[in-house]
Amino acid sequence: MGLSQISAAMYSSQTPLTFEQFQVVGFHKSYSSSDLVTDSAAGATAFACGVKTYNGAIGVDADTVAQQTILEEAQERGLSTGLVVTSTIVHATPASFAAHQPMRVFYEEIAEDLSDSNVDLMIGGGKRYFDRRQKDDRDLISEMESRGYLISDYYYGDLSRTRPDPDRKFVYFSADNQPLPVNQGRTYLEYATRLSLSYLDSRSDEGFFLMIEGSQIDWANHANEGRLSIQETLDFNRSIQIALDFARQRPNTLVLVTADHESGGMALNPGSKRGRVKTAFTTNGHTASLVPVFAYGPGAEAFRGIYENTAIYHKMRAFLGFDEEEEPALQNP
Ligand SMILES: [Zn+2]
Repeated sequence: MGLSQISAAMYSSQTPLTFEQFQVVGFHKSYSSSDLVTDSAAGATAFACGVKTYNGAIGVDADTVAQQTILEEAQERGLSTGLVVTSTIVHATPASFAAHQPMRVFYEEIAEDLSDSNVDLMIGGGKRYFDRRQKDDRDLISEMESRGYLISDYYYGDLSRTRPDPDRKFVYFSADNQPLPVNQGRTYLEYATRLSLSYLDSRSDEGFFLMIEGSQIDWANHANEGRLSIQETLDFNRSIQIALDFARQRPNTLVLVTADHESGGMALNPGSKRGRVKTAFTTNGHTASLVPVFAYGPGAEAFRGIYENTAIYHKMRAFLGFDEEEEPALQNP
């Protein structure tokens, strides 16, 4: 999701986008250690671990050594944690926050990592990587249930009919494989955002770390489908609005919105009108364009300017106060 995807949604919407409510805007350089054009694995690992790594890497550095993620560090410090996506939960972006694998396509290994990760809340597709595995006969869902998780899925009913108990960890599988695109009836992101914010908030007094991805904006752009890109971006925008509404009621909440990378090389071509944007594309893949970062709340100021994608990790740690606690005490008499 680059500037063109946001612009296309903005000029297609009857009302101003939530993006316009952010106090601070910056840009990050999305390149990876292996390519100027990153993929989502290296891109999300940069946010999660603060290291530039190769395309395909999930929570590991350029030498495939596992790196602690900011989500794992938040867990260690007593914050509650969550991952909410409209892809499978084992897809590169969510995986990079709680799994460590040398290749993004190791979906069943990533599912094992996620099932061991103790993330408090996970919502997304990809149930089959947990309970109908090819590499072994393990049923990770019953294993997690036996450890106290409450687990539900699309088959048992809509997410809005599920009542997670803040005393138990919660997983909801929105699909067996990939969830539907938003223009084919997928509706859960908005509700999942509301649910996860209140769930995580009530689960810990220390605060929470939540990563929400509008995953299919990328896919619409891979497919060069401008209209679907707009619909997916507007769906994500509704989720952002809920997060900002929450932050307004909890003034110690920092909300960041960005993307792993731009996809499609989208442009808004001559002949575009409000409500009738003419999109064009330069590629079926990703591009190396700078990616916008929107920040709201305390600590937002730090996200002004142009910086590496890895700086987002360091800025988040500084906001969370993780830096200070690491300072050696020897300065104090
Ligand atoms: Zn992509």
